[in-house]
Amino acid sequence: MFDRIYRAGVLGVAGRKPVENLVRSRAWSVAKRFVAGEEMDTAIAAVKELAADGVLGNLDLLGEFVNSPETANVFAGQVLALQARAAEAGVKPYVSVKLSSVGQGMTVDGTDGTAGTDLGLSNARRIVGRARELGGYVCLDMEDHSRVDVTLQQFRTLLGEFGAEHVGTVLQSYLYRSEADRSALDDLHPSLRIVKGAYLEPESVAMPAKADVDAAYRRLVYSHLKAGNYTNIATHDESIIDDVKMFVLSHNIPKTQFEFQMLYGIRRDLQKKLAAEGFTVRAYIPYGRDWYAYFSRRIAERPANVMFVLRGMLKG
Ligand SMILES: Cc1cc2nc3c(=O)[nH]c(=O)nc-3n(C[C@H](O)[C@H](O)[C@H](O)COP(=O)(O)OP(=O)(O)OC[C@H]3O[C@@H](n4cnc5c(N)ncnc54)[C@H](O)[C@@H]3O)c2cc1C
Repeated sequence: MFDRIYRAGVLGVAGRKPVENLVRSRAWSVAKRFVAGEEMDTAIAAVKELAADGVLGNLDLLGEFVNSPETANVFAGQVLALQARAAEAGVKPYVSVKLSSVGQGMTVDGTDGTAGTDLGLSNARRIVGRARELGGYVCLDMEDHSRVDVTLQQFRTLLGEFGAEHVGTVLQSYLYRSEADRSALDDLHPSLRIVKGAYLEPESVAMPAKADVDAAYRRLVYSHLKAGNYTNIATHDESIIDDVKMFVLSHNIPKTQFEFQMLYGIRRDLQKKLAAEGFTVRAYIPYGRDWYAYFSRRIAERPANVMFVLRGMLKG
């Protein structure tokens, strides 16, 4: 309960324009712990830097304020450019995309055969198609609960067209519906990233108690692994990670069937340690000018982070 109140409080304050302006102007020195710069080259450099510790990268262009078909198309063009630049630089074009950023819910305009279809799906098709050409991968991030149905539907379409080696999506353990969503996808053998969930959701759709979210997290990971599917275990929760290690050992699940994923700048020590133990570890590397909403969610996850921001702002 405290978690929810804390999260709602921080996100409420962070959502005020004067607070955003102040944090944007004074807190970049703090934000850069979580965000790998504003440009794609700095993000690609961050992937190379992590490679020295045996950690792989997942590039994420931040862009949560796309509000017209034109901006959605520009954003999709930037993701396509990122994939090309990563491949040129010798980095696997493994990217994450929020379908809202590329036009989900908007309609394709024009005279070709795609007119009238969902712009998000149409742009995602170009991005996943490019991933297939370049030997890359696209994870469709999961946003708030209002987008889950449409995201899963579009994921099914893309999975059918491009295959699980090039596209995956995310399930959030805080949602009551996620176990049913997972088992409904089982026959398609999808690669899924399992997370606890980062949005402030009503109690009618999401579990309010952290202990329940954690228990549901374990259940989702275990059932996806037991079904023989590739599982991206995206958490910094060390007790869950330790339990997963025991689970895979006792069920003879090979290390090639899963990976651990964490966010850039969080628990780098643990990322390095797991990689040294021979596990596949991937860091989610966000970059771009629209870093504020992402940064606010990270601060809202942990009370100690608010002090960290305030100290950083005082230092300038
Ligand atoms: C690779 C990746 C991709 C993700 N994709 C999505 C997505 O598509 N949709 C979505 O809703 N959510 C996504 N998330 C966010 C996720 O839902 C959680 O909000 C976030 O991971 C925090 O939960 P946790 O599992 O680490 O566990 P928690 O119980 O929140 O944290 C466990 C421990 O991790 C450390 N920690 C966690 N968060 C922070 C932080 N911000 N700063 C410092 N330390 C921290 C602390 O030591 C904490 O005690 C993603 C997370 C990861 C790692």
